Amino acid sequence: MKTSLWNPWHGCTKISAGCLNCYVYRTDAKHDKDSTAVNKTSTFDLPLKKDRKGEYRLQPGRDNVIFTCFTSDFLHEAADEWRTEAWRMIKTRSDADFLFITKRIHRFADCIPEDWGDGYNNVTVCCTVENQERAD
Ligand code: SF4
Repeated sequence: MKTSLWNPWHGCTKISAGCLNCYVYRTDAKHDKDSTAVNKTSTFDLPLKKDRKGEYRLQPGRDNVIFTCFTSDFLHEAADEWRTEAWRMIKTRSDADFLFITKRIHRFADCIPEDWGDGYNNVTVCCTVENQERAD
C-alpha cells in the first residue's frame, strides 16, 4: 500500500505550553501507550522500500509532499543516533519533498547533516512558535 506519511520514530516529550493538547499523547492514551518513550518505528526505512513493481511504497501526496515525523519531533534529542540515516534516505529520495514540523528549532544546527550546505532542495522545515517567550 502506498502512503505519503513517514514516521521514522514515535514518541516525544513535552517542551512548551503548545504541547498541552498534543495529539500524539491523546492518541497514545487511547491505547495505553507511553508517549514519552521515543522509539524507532518498524517503518524507519520506508522511504527506500519498493513494491513488487519496483515502485517506492512511500509516494508524495499533494504538492509532492511526504509528511515526515508526525508522531514525534524530527529534532528530538532521543533520535540523534538515527537522524543521520534518516537524512541519507531523504537525500536518496530527491524525487519527493519531505516536510517536518518541529518545536525544537533551537537544535537545528546540531542536527543537520554534514553536506547540508544551504539546505537540501527537497526538505521543508516548519517550526511552531506559540508565544513570545518561545520566539525569544
Ligand atoms: S513537540 Fe509536538 S509531538 Fe512533541 S509533545 Fe510537543 S506537540 Fe507533541
